[in-house]
Amino acid sequence: MKPPICCICHKRLDYPDDGGLIYFKKRRSDKEWQNMMEKKGMVGHPPYAEWFCGEHYKKQKS
Ligand SMILES: [Zn+2]
Repeated sequence: MKPPICCICHKRLDYPDDGGLIYFKKRRSDKEWQNMMEKKGMVGHPPYAEWFCGEHYKKQKS
């Protein structure tokens, strides 16, 4: 997993519950990434997910 840092303002989320991880629609390359990770039995931070601080999380959700 990526460290919880807002992808907009780069604020570090000391309490990840303040904000959240938002998953975007998967693109073709993201599906390939997922297949590759599954084949290797690896877990990682998906390229289609980003952290948002509380403030920006609300904006994304609204
Ligand atoms: Zn932010």
